[in-house]
Amino acid sequence: MQNNLIWFRNDLRLHDNTALHHACNSNEDKVIGLFIATPKQWSEHSMSQKKKSFIYSHLISLQKELLKLNIILYYYESTDFLNSIEYLLYFCEKHKIKNLFYNYQYEINERNRDVLLKKKLSEKGLFIKGFHDNIFFSEKKIKNHKNETYKVFTFFKKKVIKNLNDNIPQCFPVPLKRKPDKDIFSMFTSLKHLSLHFDKNIFPVGEKKAIDRLKNFYMHKIDDYASKRNFPFLESTSMLSPYLSSGIISSRYCLMMLLKIKNNFSSNILLTSSWFNQILWRDFYYHLLIGFPKISKFQALVAWEEEIPWVNNIKHFNAWKEGCTGFPIIDAGMRQLNQLGWMHNRLRMITSSFLVKNLLINWRKGEKYFMSNLIDGDLALNNGGWQWSASVGCDSVPYFRMFNPLNQSIIFDISGNFIKKFIPELKYVPNHYIHEPHKWSKEKNIKLDYPLPIINYNDSRKKFLLTFNQARLKFKKRLNTYE
Ligand code: FAD
Repeated sequence: MQNNLIWFRNDLRLHDNTALHHACNSNEDKVIGLFIATPKQWSEHSMSQKKKSFIYSHLISLQKELLKLNIILYYYESTDFLNSIEYLLYFCEKHKIKNLFYNYQYEINERNRDVLLKKKLSEKGLFIKGFHDNIFFSEKKIKNHKNETYKVFTFFKKKVIKNLNDNIPQCFPVPLKRKPDKDIFSMFTSLKHLSLHFDKNIFPVGEKKAIDRLKNFYMHKIDDYASKRNFPFLESTSMLSPYLSSGIISSRYCLMMLLKIKNNFSSNILLTSSWFNQILWRDFYYHLLIGFPKISKFQALVAWEEEIPWVNNIKHFNAWKEGCTGFPIIDAGMRQLNQLGWMHNRLRMITSSFLVKNLLINWRKGEKYFMSNLIDGDLALNNGGWQWSASVGCDSVPYFRMFNPLNQSIIFDISGNFIKKFIPELKYVPNHYIHEPHKWSKEKNIKLDYPLPIINYNDSRKKFLLTFNQARLKFKKRLNTYE
């Protein structure tokens, strides 16, 4: 019999948890769980209060579920990654751990921590095993013909689907109940005290709730996803992002269930499923995070970005944050974020484009603000989304394209239902005026308790095109000078 430790990180679940599965492989071994919180580092990385509460609530739930399997989950709060390593050394010695199992994390500090940890624990004679769990295939298996990370999504997608055809990844079942340890209840300390308040109606707590949400989405929404996904008022997306980003459910599990409901495995389903396409965008951004460690340092993937003279307008930035720009669709999106900690994808695209291209405010500021408010904040996806919108990442929107908030509003919230839900000040504005409420107030001579647009769209468009063109030229010139 050996003592195995499963170190839970971004994978707070029992279903399809690779490291947990391997830790429980032999029925004879004793298995202990550990979660190490790093609140100081979470704050340094702008993790939102909502996401912290979401994680803690799921830890409490995970502890309960693990106990049913006779596995105790311990908790430790560390000051930083070095302290985590020291604690692990102490913990492994105290509990006579022989084997440590964990799923990989891909941010640069986490990767450096794991290298050091492996060295230190190996020196003590421990066996350490890490697993790729958060992505479909390891980065080594998804490279282009030059053995490099894919920079174009379509080619990345083809490669992943080819690999899925050749080798469907396994979904691991919930481990079997283990033999009870006679001291289990004396060793157990409940994590209930960690509970923090957040609105559990929108994002209920528990792995089972995440699975139910997935099933419900597959039963009622997935067939219309492609045609409805861009309309925020329709609530036609899965809203699974908080669960995926904290590892309450895995993307493999989503794939397996999709194949199950479609009742067969064919690459055609994977190629044509609009929803699975989004899951693959998630995977793409994780592969970029692994392939380009500078993402973890908030650097842009295109070099000319450093020539953009960002504008430091605090008034504009605050108006954007508070949802008071005078552009209803932007403001409704930002207020959705501020209230729920979640924003519809179309609105994330429009609001981020507005900050970067209309206000010319550095995308890093927007990225940080999103992170500090999102319940699904995820470095790979958030950074990927922001670099996409700012046209400074891989396979981003072309640099000369921007979203016109008025057109977007008319197309994606035609009746203004979404806008009215989040901007009550505009409740009485007739629907056909909702996208430009000040036109109505002027015509009717009614005073609106809603700000005037903070910029003129056409002027800002011209300024943006000039600024980005000049930045690219300046960078080219600089390169030529060095050649
Ligand atoms: P669904 O439409 O049901 O999609 C299913 C899953 O696919 C999502 O849960 C998500 O994991 C993935 N996905 C969907 N759209 C995208 C996308 N555009 N890029 C990558 N993966 C995607 N998503 C996060 O989870 N965390 C973030 O911090 C985050 N920040 C973003 C910032 C910006 C500027 C932009 C443009 C997008 C960001 N996204 C982020 C991606 C996307 O907006 C959300 O994943 C999506 O809105 C979540 O809603 P859903 O679960 O209903 O998605």
